[in-house]
Amino acid sequence: MNPPSGYEASAAFAQACDAADPLRAFRDEFLIPPHAGRDSHYFCGNSLGLQPRAAREAIAAELDYWAELGVEGHFRGRLPWLDYHAYLRDDLARVTGALPTEVVAMNTLGVNLHLMMVSFYRPTRERPAILIEAGAFPTDRYAVESQIRFHGFDPAEALIELEGDGPHGTLSQSAIEAALDRHGDRIALVLLPGVQYRTGQAFDLAAITALAHRHGCRIGFDLAHAVGNLPLALHDSGADFAVWCSYKYLNGGPGAIGGAFVHERHAQAELPRFAGWWGHDKTTRFRMGPKFVPTPGADGWQLSNPPILALAPLRVSLEIFRRAGMTRLREKSLALTGYLAWLVQHTLADVLEVVTPVDPAQRGAQLSIRVRGGRERGRALFEHLLAHGVIGDWREPDVIRISPAPLYNRYADCLAFAQAVRGWSPLA
Ligand SMILES: *Cc1c(COP(=O)(O)O)cnc(C)c1O
Repeated sequence: MNPPSGYEASAAFAQACDAADPLRAFRDEFLIPPHAGRDSHYFCGNSLGLQPRAAREAIAAELDYWAELGVEGHFRGRLPWLDYHAYLRDDLARVTGALPTEVVAMNTLGVNLHLMMVSFYRPTRERPAILIEAGAFPTDRYAVESQIRFHGFDPAEALIELEGDGPHGTLSQSAIEAALDRHGDRIALVLLPGVQYRTGQAFDLAAITALAHRHGCRIGFDLAHAVGNLPLALHDSGADFAVWCSYKYLNGGPGAIGGAFVHERHAQAELPRFAGWWGHDKTTRFRMGPKFVPTPGADGWQLSNPPILALAPLRVSLEIFRRAGMTRLREKSLALTGYLAWLVQHTLADVLEVVTPVDPAQRGAQLSIRVRGGRERGRALFEHLLAHGVIGDWREPDVIRISPAPLYNRYADCLAFAQAVRGWSPLA
């Protein structure tokens, strides 16, 4: 089905779309939070993705090995713990469009961002600055500001926050280009999102990378809202690094282990880094020598032996992505979020306004939807939706984020959202 033609605001239409959906069976692999004895309409995969049914068993299996094998669990069992992070590698590489050696599951997003900046933010007196988007996620802003201070520079001069030039704070490619033309020779690092968390705008990673590199800047991406949402081509983008969390679209569980990408051209480079024994070359790690020899590639940025119980659900979750495939997921996502956008624009325009760019190439699953009439009205509608089992999330001052996830959301969920908004009394 090709948006936007042929959509209808009827239960029969939504059910027919769901019945024809080639990915419909994946929904059964997830635990959908109940509401009033039925499945809720869960649109919060942009914040915390749902639990794969296989997660519980995957964790239980590791607990069993621990009980039965103790320390031997590092070497025995179906998936010995010693190499556990490597069991996720190929699937992570598929989801991010990277070479397997370019990605690693480790730590959490904020930690990885700092670790990557240790290596890729190397300010000099002539080139001290970091460019980010205005209104960046707090962690990202705190991280870059603290890194700037850590290197002895002043954020008032070395932090450049690029104001959105488009509707609702969205950012055009030409605005990024203009900022780099103006400040490029002072910028050490460009840090931008794959999908902006507030507006839902998706960026062209390859085009931005080419721009940044033309100006001699390093570039990294925060893919918190892009990974598992859009097909990515990190290797081909040429970006120096990327980081992400895994509890949003990747359904890795609350506080799940995040990930990092380091482009192949840095695999053997002698970059400054904060080192730990798990990043040491695997073949000699257990000689426990004093000299750090990094494993080539992203693995060399690991610090600690990883938390197995936290990696287990992410491993099974990534297996689901392997079977579904990012191309098919994106195809469904375009049609599904297209349906939601159509419903808002054609049946709810008196109440709601889509903030996210309408161009499907500039968005993923999420629509940021502004409630007309101010914050109080917005809050009231949000509470009304929750009370009717329609679960999105709230962003001040007047935006509800609704993200149909193609692995477990249905067209019927999108229709239920529209019907719940229609049934809201202050409309009268
Ligand atoms: C979700 C999110 C985070 C959260 O960081 P954690 O370290 O996982 O808590 C950071 N940045 C962005 C852009 C996010 O969307």
